[in-house]
Amino acid sequence: MLAALALPAAAKGWPTPAAGDSASGDPELVLTFDDGPNLKTTPAVLDTLAKHHLHVIFFQVGEMVGGKSKRVAEIEARIVREGHIIGNHTMTHKDLCKKKIDDDRAAREIDESRETIVAVAGVQPRWFRVPYGVRCERVEKLLTDRGLVHFHWDLDPQEWKHNDAPKAVKYVESELGRMSDRNVLLMHDIKTATVKALPEILDWIDAENIKRVAAHKRPIRIIQGYELAAERLPKGLVDWLADAAPDLHALATQTASTLP
Ligand SMILES: [Zn+2]
Repeated sequence: MLAALALPAAAKGWPTPAAGDSASGDPELVLTFDDGPNLKTTPAVLDTLAKHHLHVIFFQVGEMVGGKSKRVAEIEARIVREGHIIGNHTMTHKDLCKKKIDDDRAAREIDESRETIVAVAGVQPRWFRVPYGVRCERVEKLLTDRGLVHFHWDLDPQEWKHNDAPKAVKYVESELGRMSDRNVLLMHDIKTATVKALPEILDWIDAENIKRVAAHKRPIRIIQGYELAAERLPKGLVDWLADAAPDLHALATQTASTLP
């Protein structure tokens, strides 16, 4: 009993399901990509997403966004233009619960990354994901002070660790095959394994859904980033945004930038 009480706050973890329950009743999937952008791999991920008409969430690292490279700025512009949402994943991807990082540095990790994304991509990142998914009192206070909520995940294929595409595909297909609620998938657009695994996963979902529909079973529904954002806004505001936005991509950007 005492041992349990003495556990550090970091041991609690973040609540799941990470993005709430399924809204449609179908098994739902939210796609998120962390740690980018990368000049080679991020465009390849964007190509695959465009082919499947998907608009997702990228949790970006400020030092990868900055650096004044024109090519990075072009990728950022493409991400926004193609209707994806950019979230903040800190400036240098440090464990913000570690004692060797002081409170000021931890705060700068969040704020400087946000400023860099605003300067380069021209959008305000409203969603935040902490590196390594760590949770402690300091992180909770930093987020509360900034009106942020941690955007956690449910499925982690660990490709960030093993960079093995077939292994990642196998894990995701097996999880998706039995999921019944809403799951947030964590992948990394800086990994070649993600570049290779993503088309296979999306093709598998398409094939699986054809089988399910034929068998009168619920298909796997991929939730677009802006649909998830819209769920968190009042209905009237979403309608107003839809009227004001000239196209789907502008709607995605406007919806995300209006998040509380
Ligand atoms: Zn990360």
